[in-house]
Amino acid sequence: MAGLTLKHIYKVYENGHKAVNDFNINIEDKEFIVFVGPSGCGKSTTLRMIAGLEEITAGDLFIGDTLVNDMEPKDRDIAMVFQNYALYPHMSVYENMAFGLRNRKVPEEVIKEKVLNAAKILDIEDYLDRKPKAMSGGQRQRVALGRAIVRDPKVFLLDEPLSNLDAKLRAQMRTEITKLHKSLGTTFIYVTHDQVEAMTMGTRIVVMKLGYVQQIDTPMNLYNKPYNKFVAGFIGTPQMNFFNVRLNRVKDKVEVIFANGNVITVPYEVVAKAPDKYLHSGVEVILGVRPDHVQVSEKKTGLCGVVNVVEHLGNECIIYADLEGNVENAEEKAEEGMSKANSITIKTIEGIEVNQGDKIYLALDPHRIHLFDKETEITIIEEVPHASSFMGKVSAGKLSMFGKSVALPAAVKDALDGKGEVMVDIPPYAVVPGKDFALEVHDVEELGDVRLASLINGDRYLYAIVDKKVKKGDTYEFALHLDKVTFHAGDEVALAPIGEEEALIGTFSKADRRENRERVIDFFYNINGVPVLAPRENGYKMNQVEGNKCYKNNYKFVINRKAIKLAEEGIEGDVKEILDYGYISYAKLDVNGQEILVEAPVGLADSKVYISFAGEDVAVHSLDIDMRIC
Ligand code: ADP
Repeated sequence: MAGLTLKHIYKVYENGHKAVNDFNINIEDKEFIVFVGPSGCGKSTTLRMIAGLEEITAGDLFIGDTLVNDMEPKDRDIAMVFQNYALYPHMSVYENMAFGLRNRKVPEEVIKEKVLNAAKILDIEDYLDRKPKAMSGGQRQRVALGRAIVRDPKVFLLDEPLSNLDAKLRAQMRTEITKLHKSLGTTFIYVTHDQVEAMTMGTRIVVMKLGYVQQIDTPMNLYNKPYNKFVAGFIGTPQMNFFNVRLNRVKDKVEVIFANGNVITVPYEVVAKAPDKYLHSGVEVILGVRPDHVQVSEKKTGLCGVVNVVEHLGNECIIYADLEGNVENAEEKAEEGMSKANSITIKTIEGIEVNQGDKIYLALDPHRIHLFDKETEITIIEEVPHASSFMGKVSAGKLSMFGKSVALPAAVKDALDGKGEVMVDIPPYAVVPGKDFALEVHDVEELGDVRLASLINGDRYLYAIVDKKVKKGDTYEFALHLDKVTFHAGDEVALAPIGEEEALIGTFSKADRRENRERVIDFFYNINGVPVLAPRENGYKMNQVEGNKCYKNNYKFVINRKAIKLAEEGIEGDVKEILDYGYISYAKLDVNGQEILVEAPVGLADSKVYISFAGEDVAVHSLDIDMRIC
């Protein structure tokens, strides 16, 4: 039994195809993890890397606490079950199951005990003498599972094990595998392209697309809180409906304007976390609503459609309708820059009197709608919002917002001088306890490790991460970390936030030395002519991933800013400017043509400084392809 950790795992095939990009997950012991996604998204490649059947291009794979990147498959203590069973046709079921153990010289009586035990669990005791060809697909898959069970592996890997079975058998085997997982108490990793399998079996699901992880979550969270349109559309049947709409806030309601001119309203609270820019009809967004959350309404208002097809399934009924105005309004709306309306699927209980050609009115459950940005297709209603935006005014070195006026630190004052009205995007973590502003707490949500407060400012909320003491109804006194906010003046970014990391370009090298007469190799990151000792394991990784070109190429060294210190010696930088943000200040350095920011005191008078950081704090990225090597 063991958990697994995948850290920045990449797979680039020899033909240059990048099949897996920066895959990260911590799998707990005894979890049932499902990798799901359309064909070609990199599920099997990832599973095969875990099994050791495919080399890992970059990244670290741990089984338990052991780094297994270079460990032979047979030593990884995992068992893999394939779609095509991979049984030996000339051997009996018993022999197939015993084969691996015999190879390991396990005593015959132990083999017997293990095989009989597995056969009992899988209910194939009566078939032990049969050859695979005299068995059904379901029975063969049981044998394949049995062969895995007898090995007592730490981790079970299953690659589409049920896709050769018919629908009924698949459903049956699904529950059996779930039961097997419970009774064995072992970690399972299961690959499938079938979202129903994923939803019914996984404790957590990894949704993948084109080599990228889209979301890792529990089945219910994937269903209720899809991170983007792809996940929303992939999970759930019938598929989620999508429409291009505009949103328009009117007091405590928001109008949802469809391309056919239909308008429905939802309470503002439902979309309060969406950035304000989406709520004034200016930008089109994608509205998603599952067929389960659309109802045929008694009222003759709202979304209107004409029934196309009705499918009666006995217990429920699926209605396919075209939104009315689809045809005649489409051209006009298209001219206004809105996309054409489309059709809608409704899932409802049986007994409803609806026929083809009927005109129906539809109500959407306002608490079950999803909204996505049209360009990025990422949800615009995040549990912890990226930022909330408010207007402020800059004059005479002061910022007026939230009903107060505060003196600006020099860095902000210099950048915003004369800008007047500014829009400020404020991430929740940039709102910190302080004395500059005070707003009433509308509510506090517990979101995992985070307590998110909504603070009332006029008719909108400023979101803040707060500690345990803060309660609904309190007046919360706070300040803003202005190095974390974005200031907009008109359409331009007047002052960008300062990120957590810096990057410097440099080279990689090695050097031999003797230690107690032994030859030792040291590896270095070289930046601006200064070597930084690299962790030895990273040196080996550079060699393994990049081959000999690692000593010729340039690399991007990414360093967390907190790890960069001013020092007596190290990498030389010319101080261009000191940026004073009040609670913190930074020096803008020119490191041989590369500009970086480091934390530095306001009083720093030197025009030349040295910076240093440890090799352990550096992540090395390739410049050839977008890949973190180590
Ligand atoms: P999935 O299991 O999700 O269907 P795979 O992991 O099998 O996807 O494949 C991911 C991508 O990598 C696909 O585009 C596939 O064509 C490609 N691929 C798989 N194996 C190889 C290979 N040996 N060489 C080059 N490309 C490959």
